[in-house]
Amino acid sequence: MHEVSLARALVDRAREAAQEHDAERVDAMTVAVGEATHINPEQLVFTIETVARDTIAADATIEIETVAPVATCACGWEGEPGTLDSTYVVAPNVTCPECGERLTFAAGRECELRSIAVPDDPAATNRTER
Ligand SMILES: [Zn+2]
Repeated sequence: MHEVSLARALVDRAREAAQEHDAERVDAMTVAVGEATHINPEQLVFTIETVARDTIAADATIEIETVAPVATCACGWEGEPGTLDSTYVVAPNVTCPECGERLTFAAGRECELRSIAVPDDPAATNRTER
């Protein structure tokens, strides 16, 4: 997993979202990280903080929301792949216990920006330079 490029994409997304709100600063970022991504949340936070340096998100609090993996199969089976085989994280091609087909991850493989918090300061949104 390339934490740096992921972190950069997340910070870019946060900056875009802040601009949409005419905010000049990002106070907090919530990032959803699937448990099947191999991403180490602590390392991701550190990397985001590093990448965010010198941006409007430099002082943002980074919150990680972990997402439990859910796998689904074409036959209708749905479940948590982690309970089937503890090695699923290193063997991405998990198969269905019902029919043996390859499972699709419905959740647990994401790494995306869930939300950001921007300053709730009217002065920040009432600038004349718009
Ligand atoms: Zn199946």
